[in-house]
Formats: sequence, structure tokens, C-alpha cells
Amino acid sequence: MDYIFEEVVVKPSNSPEYILNGEEVDLWSDEYIYYHSKSIIDYVRERILEFEKKSEDPFFEIIGKSLEKEMVKNALLSGSNILFVGKKGYGKTTFSKSILKLLPEKILAIKGCKIHDNPTHPTCFSCKKKVLESNSVELVWIPRKWVRIPGDPMMTTRQLIGGISIQKIREGYDLDHPEVFTPGRVLKANRGIAYFDELGAIPSALQTMLHELIEEKQITTPEGDILPLRIDSIFIASTNPANYRGTSDIKEPLMDRMEAIPIGPPETLEEEIQIGLKNMSLRYGAILPEWHLKILARTVRFARMKDRCRYASHIEVEPSCRATIKLFDHVRASATRKGREVVMLSDYGERYEVIKLGLRSRMELDYEDGISKDEIIEKLVEEAINRTCGEIYSQIQSEEFTSIMKDINESERIDVHSDNLEEFRNIWDKAVKISKNENEIISAIEIILEAIWRCTELIDKVGDGVYEFKA
Ligand SMILES: [Zn+2]
Repeated sequence: MDYIFEEVVVKPSNSPEYILNGEEVDLWSDEYIYYHSKSIIDYVRERILEFEKKSEDPFFEIIGKSLEKEMVKNALLSGSNILFVGKKGYGKTTFSKSILKLLPEKILAIKGCKIHDNPTHPTCFSCKKKVLESNSVELVWIPRKWVRIPGDPMMTTRQLIGGISIQKIREGYDLDHPEVFTPGRVLKANRGIAYFDELGAIPSALQTMLHELIEEKQITTPEGDILPLRIDSIFIASTNPANYRGTSDIKEPLMDRMEAIPIGPPETLEEEIQIGLKNMSLRYGAILPEWHLKILARTVRFARMKDRCRYASHIEVEPSCRATIKLFDHVRASATRKGREVVMLSDYGERYEVIKLGLRSRMELDYEDGISKDEIIEKLVEEAINRTCGEIYSQIQSEEFTSIMKDINESERIDVHSDNLEEFRNIWDKAVKISKNENEIISAIEIILEAIWRCTELIDKVGDGVYEFKA
């Protein structure tokens, strides 16, 4: 039983026979050496350095966030655990999953081990016994793993760490008996990544146990035995900024073992749009021209700008990138249902109902003093349309403007849904210039007219897509 409390390391000199898929393998040969003995953090370090050497981004699938990426690389190379601090929906989980991709796709583990022990450096008693006392030890390939551990205030020790009893071994239970050893979620993350979603919500007594496990590589069983548990894992945690300083916070000793990296909203409008497009659920259907992407992304971004948008000051819980993604989806869905090739302003809904559909559940007001959530959304959309139309308007050269106005003046009224739009030669030419393809032209004509209507007093909007010259 002594080996339970000792560190067991297998070397070529004391190695049992290792069997993989029914055949004996030489673990120290070139073919297998990479897949065992190394710690998870060492695999990650090697990969990061390979990327650095090639000046490539190991987290290329994450849009923007260049400073955050630098900090993550640095922390990992230093062998630190990471705490992502940010509101939900800004990619903390995505980031932790992209760290997973730095692990080898597969590694070797002892067959039957509940925590996928390293063949040469096992942690559980059963495997320690196996490598010390058996003539042959069977191995399996295991894929890289990412174990999510939800921050549940009701979580038990058994769920988090597991059930471990030396007493049961003394009573004669088999080492593999569930009463002797049943790993909880953290131990299941052995040789992979443990992702604590809302670490602060884990009961503080359990946080103390986690600290013991992470820092001292041991646990104290309910019976009082102190057991070495050399778990090999990268710990990544997330927390909401409110919890970071608030009541249900993370215990000091644990905080001291993690590097906090803030994860905020996308820095630029362009990044916000890219994230939205990349994550849309409706992959086909009506085109979303650039001006609509900007209006929708701006609506969400204005809701976050407490210092720059007066309506945002009413918002307590701000909409995340998920709101942007859903607005893109909903507006495309609206146009696609009508059989359109391209999104038009009417796809927002008469009173922007389609946008409200995507925003209502994703933001919360601070207090409702005479203004409702729906009204705030309407104001945000209006601001976003005004800003985007202002940009469109400023791109119209003065000679273009004169000729466009001549077009409208001549026929007095223009309906973007009519099929004689090409007759408005000058406005058509301008629309072609700002369109990416011919399907966008009708939407471009509409946004040009909308921009002139909003930015000048020269035309009137008299209906959906219908603009009139003002006498
Ligand atoms: Zn084991």
C-alpha cells in the first residue's frame, strides 16, 4: 500500500511490457515517445513556441483580441492557470477551447484508468499498482479533452473532486471499486483542460479543496487521509466582472494561483461584424449588405456605450456578441421569408420588431423611469441608422448629389420596389459603386435615398421605400 502515498515513475530500466492494440510497443521509440511522460503544459509550451517561431497566431480562429492573445500565450508559457474576467458572450469559452487545440490530437493512457493516467507517471492507485506489479500494462489512445466544470453553488465534493477512500482499501475493497475511487469533474480533466465556468459560484469550501489540489497536488479525504494527487491539467476559469469584486467571489488563495485576463467586447465595429457573420446560424438566404451589417452591429454597440449614447445609460445588462449574431440571423430570415435576394430596411419590422426579437432577452434595463425596453431599442436602432446613413451621405460627391437630385426631381417620386429603377440613371450608377454585386443594388438605392432623407430637407419619405421630392 505504500505506493499510494508515493510518486511512481516508470523508466526504461523498470518498465513493464506495454501493450497497445494487442501488440507490445516500445514506449521510448521515436514512434511513441511524444505521446506520454510529457505534461500537458509542456505540450502547450512547445506548440506556442512553434507558432512564435513562424510568427503565426495560435488562436487564429479568434477575431481581434490581440492583446488578450499575447497575455494568454505569456501566461501559458509561464505555466500559469488563467482566469478570464468578462461579461458573458464575449468569447471566454471560445478562448479556452482554442487553447485546447494546442494539445496533441491524441495521447497515450493506461487502459481502463478512470482519469486517463500517463503510462509512465500514473496518479491513481490502481495504475500505480499496475505499472509496479504487473508484467504487462495495456494502453489506449485518448483524444485531447476539455472538461467544463459549471460554477454551481450546490456542487458537492463528490461531483467536483470525487470520492476517494483509503479506509475502503484497508477494509479490503478492490482498488478499482467505485467506493475506493470515483473521480469527480476536476480529476476527469486529468491530462486535459479543466474549464471552470463561473469559478466564483463554486462553494468556498470546495474552492479550498481546489487550491490544495492545484497548489499542493494533494487532497484530504473525508476520513482525514492526505493523499498525493498529481493531477496534470491546465486550469482555465471564467468569471463575470461583477462576481470578481462582488459577494460570490473567488477565494484569495485561489486567485493567487491564476492570472486574470480581461475579455471585453470586440474593439472595433469591423470585428463585431466579422464575429457576427462567422457565427450566424442561417448560413444562406438574403444578402446582408455592408450598410445593414453596420446598422445592426452599431445598434448593439451603442447599447454598450454608456458614456457616448444617452439611451445606453438606462441599460444594466448589455447585449453581447450573441445579440449581434442573432440580429444578423433575424434580419436575413425576415428578408428570406419574403423571397428577397437582399435585405431592405422594412426587414427590421415596422417598429423594428425583428430587432426587438433579437435584443429584448439579451439586455436588461437599470430602472424603467418612463421609458420601456422596446422604446430604448427603437432609439438605438434610430441612432444606428442615422450614423450609418451619415456615412453613406458623406460619400456622395457634390456633383453626384446634384445629378441624383435631378433624377428625383424629374419624376417627383421614386419607389425602390418598382422595376423601373434603372431609369434613375445617376442614382443607379452611385448604387452600383457602393454595391458588392448586382443583387445589392436595390438595397443600395434605398440606403442612398434614406441617407438623403435623413441628412437633408430635400426629400420626404412617404412610405416603405418610397421617397418624394420636396417642392
Ligand atoms: Zn489510473
